[in-house]
Amino acid sequence: MTTFDVINPATEDVVRSVPLATLEEADAAIARASAALPAWRAVAPGDRARLLRRFAEAVDGAVEELAALEVLNAGHTIGNARWEAGNVRDVLHYYSAAPERLFGRQIPVPGGLDVTFHEPVGVVGVIVPWNFPMPIAAWGFAPALAAGNTVVLKPAELTPLTALRLAELALEAGIPPDVFQVLPGAGPVVGRRFVTHPAVRKVVFTGSTRVGKQIMAGCAEQVKRVTLELGGKSANIVFADADLERAAATAPYGVFDNAGQDCCARSRILVQASVYDRFMELLEPAVKGVVVGAPGDEATEMGPLISAAHREKVASYVPSDAPVAFRGSAPSGAGFWFPPTVLAPVAPGDRVAVEEVFGPVVAVLPFAEEEDAVRLANDSAYGLSGSIWTRDVGRALRVSRAVEAGNLSVNSHSSVRYWTPFGGFKQSGLGRELGPDALDSFTETKNVFIAH
Ligand code: NAD
Repeated sequence: MTTFDVINPATEDVVRSVPLATLEEADAAIARASAALPAWRAVAPGDRARLLRRFAEAVDGAVEELAALEVLNAGHTIGNARWEAGNVRDVLHYYSAAPERLFGRQIPVPGGLDVTFHEPVGVVGVIVPWNFPMPIAAWGFAPALAAGNTVVLKPAELTPLTALRLAELALEAGIPPDVFQVLPGAGPVVGRRFVTHPAVRKVVFTGSTRVGKQIMAGCAEQVKRVTLELGGKSANIVFADADLERAAATAPYGVFDNAGQDCCARSRILVQASVYDRFMELLEPAVKGVVVGAPGDEATEMGPLISAAHREKVASYVPSDAPVAFRGSAPSGAGFWFPPTVLAPVAPGDRVAVEEVFGPVVAVLPFAEEEDAVRLANDSAYGLSGSIWTRDVGRALRVSRAVEAGNLSVNSHSSVRYWTPFGGFKQSGLGRELGPDALDSFTETKNVFIAH
């Protein structure tokens, strides 16, 4: 049996050894999910809603336990980890309303009765990355289950622990066996099997754009339904008329949250040249004030990176000749620490302005006029999120309509609200998660005509 040592990124200690599923075990899980499908989709809508609510309540009762587990496994700050477990609960509650509201339509046509139904897609394979193991899992499994699908979920190799616990909570809440399975395994084995196995009718993938492209190409072979949530290089645009104090004070949280391992990280700060010096003056104490340390401490604002290999990758964006303007602190000793780092000024074509770093490194780029800001923001293969800081309502509207990204916030860095659609333009993804839109992607539309 192959196992994987799960490491605590803050201490480098082994937390637990987790077995990795083989191809045969993946096939067996998919077969069980197929077998469980007819009974699950036949559960009366009200009963399916009740089961999802009980699952949400079980998660609610385990928020502290799940959060502590994520601190240990992913090095997330305890505050963030509590939010993440709470998000799973909230997303389950939200979609528990769906089974009773999957309305079809009756459209008037001549010669008979025409009815449109929304039916489950079938077995859904959900592939999750290591950066937000709990919420990203729930954004896939909650709407999928609500719409009557069965789910096999593969957590990232590095972070399987909370997903395994969520599967137990589902069973304890009364979700029937095999309706929601969690199967730790290697991406190219278990994840790949979701793509190639004909009984898996939809793949939900969150991860790198590189692997996302392979998933999409593989799914094309069977015209398999696919939702992709991929990388980002989001811009935080600060105009001269903004509340500069607030923009500077919050900018670190827009990019260094979760140690920058966030697909929505505002890893490019675009600052209008006329206020560049003042903004940098205000940004410096904000960055130096970020509390980096033991993720279990309530006061900690930023924890370690996920692994030694990832830290090496992040460090490659800060070579010895990098234009480091200032850096925050980071503990020394065991743990995959990396200090919040501000590079400025950075030219548009520089590697750090183009590629997703996925760590606490931000590039500051000055711009002259509004149209330059829009052009720079859109000068990216990605298009996931972004922030716009201005007091001018007209400019806020113009710029938010012109920036090619799926999730924008004005005078805030908020990216995820489970009531509203989330996802990317361009190479940041395909389809939308959360909100009402996600349900459409977990159902097939069927039209039936009954002749008079
Ligand atoms: P990754 O692409 O390496 O892995 C993601 C998942 O895919 C893991 O579970 C992995 O085991 C699996 N996988 C790897 N190779 C596979 C293959 N050949 N077939 C099937 N599955 C395979 O990404 P990562 O390093 O875990 O996560 C970081 C990336 O995720 C970043 O690029 C980040 O921007 C992105 N991300 C995007 C969003 C979003 O919503 N857009 C959210 C979080 C993370």
